Amino acid sequence: MRIDILTLFPAMFQCLLVPGIFERAIERGLVRVNTHNIRDYTHDKHHVVDDYAYGGGAGMILKPEPIFEAVESVKSDIYKEEGKSGEIPVILLTPQGRPFSQQIALELSRHTCLVLLCGRYEGVDERVRQHLVTDEISIGDYVLSGGELAAMVVVDAVVRLLPGVLGSEDSAQDDSHTTGLLEYPQYTRPAEYRGWTVPEVLLSGNHAEVARWRREQALRRTLERRPELLDKVELSSGERELVDRLKNLSLGSIIK
Ligand code: SAH
Repeated sequence: MRIDILTLFPAMFQCLLVPGIFERAIERGLVRVNTHNIRDYTHDKHHVVDDYAYGGGAGMILKPEPIFEAVESVKSDIYKEEGKSGEIPVILLTPQGRPFSQQIALELSRHTCLVLLCGRYEGVDERVRQHLVTDEISIGDYVLSGGELAAMVVVDAVVRLLPGVLGSEDSAQDDSHTTGLLEYPQYTRPAEYRGWTVPEVLLSGNHAEVARWRREQALRRTLERRPELLDKVELSSGERELVDRLKNLSLGSIIK
């Protein structure tokens, strides 16, 4: 996958190169990340990228011209170098975008290239949103001072889903939100620490029992912490029964 990031602060993306999953993915050629400084696409002496808002108000708005030119230049590069045809996703990071989720990460991981556009200050000129970007993503209901951290969140979540990036093909399979449930509790050695022991079933070597225990724990956990997720997930009739039983149990304890 090729990812092109348009930003006023390319240096922020250096931190993707710290040793780890991401750096290995780059080394193995599974992903290529190019950063482009929007300021390089200005033509005036002072390389101005922002201006006052029409209508007044505090804060500066990113001008449309350098952003349009940067995106168009990157897109023509992708068409030329990758021999790509068709639409290239151009994603604006914005608190007004669709809420990012594991589902969206999965959807984005199926593209061969992505262009991410990071806003700053009070955001970007509305014409960028209307006529240039193909998608808008928010990483949560809060306001950051720039799109860079949001872009890194998206890139990290997407890249770990690319085939071959994680050590074992199925290590993302049980992750929270991939199954629609939160993940079951995990333990490692020692089997006893400060008197706290690992659940017996995990030491049993009985794979079917372990799988059953994990599924039940995932259901319990989701019910306790994020019950609304259970409305969207497909469950067997036995699992539905279990959830109903657990719900009644906790209702019972509240009434008591
Ligand atoms: N005035 C704008 C917010 C600007 S914040 C508004 O109210 O919508 C500056 C930049 O930070 C934005 O252009 C965007 O790129 C980025 N940003 C801020 N919060 C974000 C979020 N929750 N998700 C994704 N990007 C965000």
